[in-house]
This record gives sequence, structure tokens and C-alpha cells, in this order.
Amino acid sequence: MKIKKSIYTIAMAGLAFAACTKSEKAESPSDIDGKIFAKQIAVLASDSLEGRKPFSAGEEKTIQYLKTEFEKLGLKPGNGDSYFQKVPMVDILSKPAGQLVIKNDKGAVAFNYLDDFVAASRHVQDQVKLTDSELIFAGYGIVAPEYGWNDYQGLDVRGKTVVVLVNDPGFGDSTLFKGKTMTYYGRWTYKFEEAARQGAAGVLIVHDTKPASYGWAVVRSGWSKSKLYLNSDDNNMSRAAVEGWISMESAKKLFKLAKVSDTLLTAAGKKGFKPVPLKVRTSLVINNMIKKSTSNNVLALLPGTDRKDEYIIYTAHWDHFGKGEAIKGDSIYNGAADNASGTAALLEIASAFTKLEKKPSRSILFLSVTAEEQGLLGSDYYTSHPVYPINKTVADINMDVLQPFGKMKDIIIVGKGQSDLDEYADEAAGKQGRTTRGEPDPSGGWYFRSDHFNFAKVGIPSLYIENGSVSVTHGEAWGEAQKKDYNDNRYHSPADEYSSSWDLSGIIEDMQLVFEVGKKLSYESTFPGWKKGSEFKSIRDKSMGK
Ligand SMILES: [Zn+2]
Repeated sequence: MKIKKSIYTIAMAGLAFAACTKSEKAESPSDIDGKIFAKQIAVLASDSLEGRKPFSAGEEKTIQYLKTEFEKLGLKPGNGDSYFQKVPMVDILSKPAGQLVIKNDKGAVAFNYLDDFVAASRHVQDQVKLTDSELIFAGYGIVAPEYGWNDYQGLDVRGKTVVVLVNDPGFGDSTLFKGKTMTYYGRWTYKFEEAARQGAAGVLIVHDTKPASYGWAVVRSGWSKSKLYLNSDDNNMSRAAVEGWISMESAKKLFKLAKVSDTLLTAAGKKGFKPVPLKVRTSLVINNMIKKSTSNNVLALLPGTDRKDEYIIYTAHWDHFGKGEAIKGDSIYNGAADNASGTAALLEIASAFTKLEKKPSRSILFLSVTAEEQGLLGSDYYTSHPVYPINKTVADINMDVLQPFGKMKDIIIVGKGQSDLDEYADEAAGKQGRTTRGEPDPSGGWYFRSDHFNFAKVGIPSLYIENGSVSVTHGEAWGEAQKKDYNDNRYHSPADEYSSSWDLSGIIEDMQLVFEVGKKLSYESTFPGWKKGSEFKSIRDKSMGK
């Protein structure tokens, strides 16, 4: 750790720091310079940056460092005359004022906070109320035209509270949606967004361990803490006033009171399901403790030549968890793999683009976003306040956690089958003698869990790669064991640290691959699209005026 600190100090002082000069020659046929890349990770993962937490002194050092490096590469400020985009956020600690009581004229059920239900509000208001709100069971709470599915059909939920199931109908019936591969309609975040679009006052998701892929304890602990949200221009008033979960046991008690059968839970997964008014009502008061803060995305632009009003975006989140609970005497969450690696890659890929003899025809934006760890907030802000038009943005290519496990025969395209970018990645992998494949557990919804997803949500085809596991020298079992070891022992802990013994050869191949994809796109005039059946296709078609 001391070594890292000294490297950073030198870098900031601008002394004899190789990462800051272009004089060093690449040693491999790759356009990516491994030595410079290694030094950039060492700086970004150093203790001096204090774990790169939004709003901390570590943020200021990190974003200034990125700005300086982009300037040295000769890149232009990506947001007017600034390298920064301010991201207003709000931290809200929501506490329900009492039990969640649901009643009809025959009786009532009362649920205890944390044991039986959780609830919060994104409204930037000290107090939020649900008043005598009628409950409606709206199945999976999904509106998916491409699957001919609408759980809100014929329903006016304004002022009402919808009760919905987690995951999507494909979880129980392989002929529906994408079967076990979870679509975005299955994510809990979607349930809240759709209910808000429908104008619901409240949303309660019924927890079920299998389709949720985690137990009630995870919901309970996650929802007992304050949450960081974007502070939108309308103070988040367009969101449902109350968002929450109820346990399966609570849902069954609720159904009993409403005199409806538990078979509704399975009926909801059948085609043609119709929402069911439960003829019960609830009132709830939520008190909010509110803290506002502003963080920053960092943006640098390499203007194109003849198609400069078309954009390719590379993203990597710069943030991590800062300082926290000490583990084995270390309280700095350096986030070396997560995501100093991707941020350093962003710098080095930018550098590779500046060295191209044939200049890119399209413009390339290098975007290092904030608050990924808090719920993909920086990328959410960028895509809801885009600096460059969404329908002129050709693709997003995202890097989040590049692993130093050496060369792999394979590379994973998370969400393989979503967009035409797959073929670009296949071609680039082929040139390296490698093959691509989808992630091993597509029911986990991994395509929805890093920054590229916010680009997908507004229709921009997005590529998210993850390192493969078939190690060239040690085989697949070894590769899988490395991933497991990271997840079990270093992920989101102070032990995610850089070491000069890291084998960067595999990361460099992965960087070269995403560089090739962007390079090809940068010389083309085509706009790759979403594949048939993708939940993002109709959004893109609409924004492209199709
Ligand atoms: Zn992370």
C-alpha cells in the first residue's frame, strides 16, 4: 500500500511518471500499452484516492486526475468547455411511521416493518403519505408489447397501490418471455418504474426467494439503510410515493383477508392473466431524512473527422466505496479490479485512439461515470441528461471489473443475443483466436447491473464484456476458481487491491477487443441494432423515427 501511495504522489507531481508521457513504446503488437495501463491502475487504486467515494476528498482527487490525463492525451472537454457533468443526488433515509395495516369492512392485517414489509420513498419530501389507497394485484406488473403482455391492461391505478410479483413469467414457463434468462421486466427496479409510469401511488413487490434469487434477509438489510438516488428536476415526484416489498407470508395473509386464492400467484404467470382488485385499503406515513449532494461524471471527447456528429461511447465507473469498516486492519476500499481496472482501461483505450494513423470518422466519448456502486446513478444521469443526442449515439461499450487472471481462450458477452454488437465482438475475438460466449447464469439478470444498461434503457445498443474463464495456461476449472476466489474474498472489500504481480495479459487482450469493436464502428456509417425479441428494440426504433 505504501508503494501505491508513492506512485500516486509522483504522478500528481508530474515527475518522471511514464503513464503521463507518450514516449514509451508498446512492446506487443497490441495498440494497448500494458506498462502505461499498469501504472494507471496503480494510481487509481492507490490509498491516496481513498477508495474513490462520491462526495469525498477522494472524488475530487480522482476526477481531477482523470481530467489531467485526458488533457494530456489531447482530448477535448466532453461537456461544452468542461470535462465534468454535475450529477445531483439525494440520500434518503425512509422510515415508515408504524405498521402497514391493510383492511376491508370484514377485518384487517397488520405487518411489522422489516419483519413483514419494507417501504421507502424517493420523493424529496420530509413526509410522504398513502391515504386510504386501494390495493390491486397486477400479476408481474409488466407491460411488454414484444411478448404481447400487459398486466395493466384496462386498469386505472392512479392513487392506488399495486401488488406485483418479482421476476417475469418466463421463470415458471420456458415458452414465455426468454424462459429462465431474465428479461429487464423481471428486475425489481422495472416494477417500480412501470408502476410510476402507470401513475400508481404505491407499489409492493411480493418477495419469493427462488425467483428473486435472494432471501428476505437481503431485502430487509438493503431497505433498512438510507439510499442514494438521483435528485431529478421534479424532486422524484413522478415516482410512486411509496415503494416496497412484502414477504410471501404477508402476501398470503393479505390474500386471505381479500378472500382471493393463493392460486393467483401461479395464474399471474399464464397468458391472458387479468389484474385483480383486492377490495382492501391501506394508509401509510413515511418520514424521510434527506441529504443532498453533487458528484461528477468525467467526459472527454475525441472529435471525429467526417461523421463527427455521430458518437461512440466508452464507459467505466470511477467510483468505489471509499473508507469503511476495517477488515484485517485495512479500512480503504481501493476497488482495484472494481473499477480502477476499467477506468485505467478507459484512459489507455483513449490513448490508443489518439495514436491511430487513420483518424476515426465518428466522434468518441470517453465517459467515466460516478455512483455505479450506489445503483448506476452517474450513467442514469448521463442518459437522462445526454450531452450528445441519443439517436446519434451509435453504441456504448462498458468496462467494469477487468480481472488479472492472464490470457483466456474465451470472453464473455454479458447479455449475448441482445444486439448486433455481438457480431463485432465475435469478429474481434476471432482475430485473437478466441471465442465469445454468454454469461453462465443468465437468470441472474447481469446485463441490467452495470452502467451500459442505462444506455440500453434509452435504446442505445450496448456491449458489456467480462473476462472468460478458460485459462490458456491453467484450464477452465482454474479460471472459474479465480473468479470465485475474487467474489468470496475481495469483491467490495478492502482486499480488492492492486499488486505489481498482477498478470495483465488477459486484460490487455480484452481491452484490445473492445478497442477493435469501437474502431470498426468509428469508421462505419451503419447503426447496429437490437436483435428481434430484445426488450430494447422498440425503444431504439422509436428514437430513430422508425
Ligand atoms: Zn462494484
